[in-house]
Amino acid sequence: EAYLSAIDTANEKLNAYVAVTHEKARAMAKASDAKIAKGEAGALEGIPLGIKDLFATQDVHTQAASHILDGFKPKYESTVTANLWSDGAVMLGKLNMDEFAMGSSNETSYYGPVINPWRAEGSSADLVPGGSSGGSAAAVAAFLCAGATATDTGGSIRQPAAFTGTVGIKPTYGRCSRWGTVAFASSLDQAGPIARDVRDAAILLKSMASVDDKDTTSVDLPVPDYEAAIGQSVKGLKIGIPREYRMDGMPNEIEALWKKGIDWMRDAGAEIVDISLPHTKYALPAYYIVAPAEASSNLARYDGVRYGLRVPGKDIADMYEQTRAAGFGREVKRRIMIGTYVLSAGYYDAYYLKAQKVRTLIKRDFEQVFEDGVDAILTPATPSVAFGIADQEMASDPVKMYLNDIFTVTVNMAGLPGIAVPAGLDEKGLPLGLQLIGKPFDEETLFRTAHVIE
Ligand code: GLN
Repeated sequence: EAYLSAIDTANEKLNAYVAVTHEKARAMAKASDAKIAKGEAGALEGIPLGIKDLFATQDVHTQAASHILDGFKPKYESTVTANLWSDGAVMLGKLNMDEFAMGSSNETSYYGPVINPWRAEGSSADLVPGGSSGGSAAAVAAFLCAGATATDTGGSIRQPAAFTGTVGIKPTYGRCSRWGTVAFASSLDQAGPIARDVRDAAILLKSMASVDDKDTTSVDLPVPDYEAAIGQSVKGLKIGIPREYRMDGMPNEIEALWKKGIDWMRDAGAEIVDISLPHTKYALPAYYIVAPAEASSNLARYDGVRYGLRVPGKDIADMYEQTRAAGFGREVKRRIMIGTYVLSAGYYDAYYLKAQKVRTLIKRDFEQVFEDGVDAILTPATPSVAFGIADQEMASDPVKMYLNDIFTVTVNMAGLPGIAVPAGLDEKGLPLGLQLIGKPFDEETLFRTAHVIE
C-alpha cells in the first residue's frame, strides 16, 4: 500500500509507470501474506517490483511503450517475470521505456518522457533518467518500487542506473531467458535488474536467471548464490583499466571519477593493470549496424494483423503501410530503415557482414585480456551525467544521442556481463556511475567488486 500510494502521488510528475496494477498487486501481496504465515515464503515473498513494459505479463498491458501495440495484453508470461512471481514477488505495474527499447533518454516513448527524480543543485530543470530502461531506473530511485526489471541491448540497464544513482547489471548473454521479452536485437538483448544497492541486484538476478527450453540461447549453468559474493575480499584480484576508454574531450568529472574508482579498488587490495582493447573504437559504429539490422527483422511482425493497432487501408498492403506509418515513432522508423538498408542484397557484405566480423574482433580483445589474468575491467559507465529533457544538440543529431552508449555497447557486442554502480556525485550533486565488466558467466566477481565501490 505504501508503494501504491507513493506511485499515485509521484507518477504524474515522473511518468515512470505506464500502468499501475493496483488490484493485482493487492491480490499478490495477500497471497504472499498467506505463504509467510504458513512459513513457506519464497526468496522474494511480498517484495513489490516494477516491470519494464518490454516484458510480456499475462493479461496485463504490454506495449513496449509503442503505439503499434495498442491494447495488447499477452496470453502468456515472460520467463523472467514468471521466475520472479514464483519466488513470491509482487507486481506493482508496468514501467515506461524508450519505444521498443530504442533510445538513451526515455524520450522516444509513446507515453512521453520519464523525468529523472534527481535535479542539479540550484536548478529546477528536468533531467532525463537515461534509457531505454528510464522508467525502471526512475521508479527505483524515487522509491516507487523496491526493484525493477530492465533490459540492456547496448547499455539500457547500465546508463539509466548511472543517471539515477541506482545499481544495474546486464548479465552474460544467455543468463536470463529472452522468452516473452519483446525482441529488439536478439543477439544482444539481455534482461537484468535495476535496484537500490548491489545486494538487492544480486538477489533479484538470482531469481530472474534460468535456463529455459523456450529460449535456446539461454544457458544451462547453475545460477550461483550471488549474494554470497558480496563482502568477499577483492585482495589480489586483477582489475584492468582499458586505455582506449580514455576519450578525447572526456569531461573532467568523469576522468576524476574513474581515478577515484581506481584508487578505491587499489585501497581494497586489488591489483590495477593497464590493458588494451584495441578494437573499442569500432564498437559503436558496428553496434549501430547490427542492432538496427536485427530490429528491422524483429519488427516486421507488427503488421496490423496479429497485434495491437490496425489502421484500415484500401487493400492489405495499404493497411500494413498505414498501420506501420501511424504505429511506429520516428526513432523506430529510423532504425527499421537503417536495418533494412544494411541487410539489402547489395550492401549486406559491406555493412552487416563487416560489422559481424568487427564484433568477433571486439570479443577477442576481451578474451585476450581475461586470458592474461584480468578478473574484471573498470570504466566509467557513461560519458556524462544526466542531461536535460529535450536537449537541443541530442534532438537535432541522433549520432550525439548514440554516443551515450560509447562505454556500454562493447559489453553487449561481446556478450559479457557488466554492472553500473553509483560512485558519488558531481559538483552539482548529480549521480555518477562506474562500470565493471566481467568474464562470461562470472557475475559474482562483478557483485564482489561493485560492492567495494558503492
Ligand atoms: N541506446 C541504445 C540504443 O538505442 C541501447 C538501447 C538498449 O540497450 N536497449 O540502441
